[in-house]
Amino acid sequence: MKKTLALLGSTGSIGKQALDVVRGLGWSVQALAAHSNIQELENQIREFKPQLVAVFDLEAAKTLRIAVADMDVKVVQGMSGLCEVAACESAELVLNSVVGMVGLQPTLAAIQSGKKLALANKETLVAGGKLVMDAAKRNKVPIFPVDSEHSAIFQCLQGSPGEKAVKRLILTASGGPFFGRNRKELSEVTPEQALKHPNWQMGAKITIDSATMMNKGLEIIEASWLFAMPAERIDVVVHRESVIHSMIEYVDHSVIAQMGVPDMRIPIQYALTYPERFRSPVSPLSLTDYGKLTFFEPDTDTFVCMKACKKAIARGGLAPAAANGANEMAVRLFLEGRISFLEIGEYVMEAMERQPDVQEVVSVEQILDADRAARDFVRRAAGC
Ligand code: NDP
Ligand code: MG
Repeated sequence: MKKTLALLGSTGSIGKQALDVVRGLGWSVQALAAHSNIQELENQIREFKPQLVAVFDLEAAKTLRIAVADMDVKVVQGMSGLCEVAACESAELVLNSVVGMVGLQPTLAAIQSGKKLALANKETLVAGGKLVMDAAKRNKVPIFPVDSEHSAIFQCLQGSPGEKAVKRLILTASGGPFFGRNRKELSEVTPEQALKHPNWQMGAKITIDSATMMNKGLEIIEASWLFAMPAERIDVVVHRESVIHSMIEYVDHSVIAQMGVPDMRIPIQYALTYPERFRSPVSPLSLTDYGKLTFFEPDTDTFVCMKACKKAIARGGLAPAAANGANEMAVRLFLEGRISFLEIGEYVMEAMERQPDVQEVVSVEQILDADRAARDFVRRAAGC
């Protein structure tokens, strides 16, 4: 059955692959949103003919309005524009694939309007996990994971007899481009080297997160919210080939894995079509082409970001929001050549530890404040 979709982050790596999936499914796109890449947005508007488009950047929104004046499309702007797209009345399903904490409010807007939500924007769950999951429960809105590890776990859980039967989740990690290196070797790495991921083509921020292994730390927190699983029961194993996308272990020690070639269009499509499956443009998996699959312990003494995230989830409250905010700023400064690769982890750990304890996270404002404070801390500490 054809469905209608609102897509946030449509000009990004996940967004473009999602549109490829939608093309294959023959679905209709009702609304799109991006930050400022209006050239790509205009192409998407002309192909998919959405009725609503949000551009975060005000100047870019103005230019786009002129460029598509011949089309029947409303162009809105800023955060309110993103939330309007997320709550677009004619869309049954929302896919949020913007990068960063900026996705939190649109995520909540989609949930509050009762839309089914496919979520790629992991920072939303890291910073605002409790608010998001509580809102989803209250509004009876399902959240379908797009992140490949979480999609794998979601797929492995189909047919599970219930929470009590699951002993632990096992997230796989590629290990990124610097697997096996020590801290001395990492002290000199450049943004260019860190941007070369061995298995996945992704946006710049998540590619750096993979190199520092912050990505796996964020994913532990993401999994703990999505699957209501304490972090102590979420393990990570480095699996260089990225063929097993993650696993669950049942109490009888049977382990179920989900496999496939590393191509995000599989988890994107499953999040959109669940519980159904359709043909996809992705290549089939040939295990004999791989020959062997390898597994290693993660080195959290070298890649301290993962350790910082584990500490953050153990502390709870706003500690994960602080770790995430510090990381977003540190990654930006690293990409601008203003801090070193190893400083990313140091700042994430310190910002997380500085975050005061709170009884309970009750509002978006609290999360935004913790995020801002962590970013300011990193900027000041780096002298920027
Ligand atoms: P990209 O950097 O490729 O794309 C980011 C998208 O978000 C772009 O469309 C960008 O618009 C948009 N965006 C950024 N800031 C804003 C803003 N303030 N308002 C509106 N739109 C904004 O990122 P990815 O696609 O790689 O990643 C997206 C999310 O998915 C991240 O949370 C990432 O962790 C997650 N993810 C990604 C995977 C991947 O394979 N890429 C795998 C698993 C998870 P513009 O182009 O105009 O700047
Ligand atoms: Mg992932």
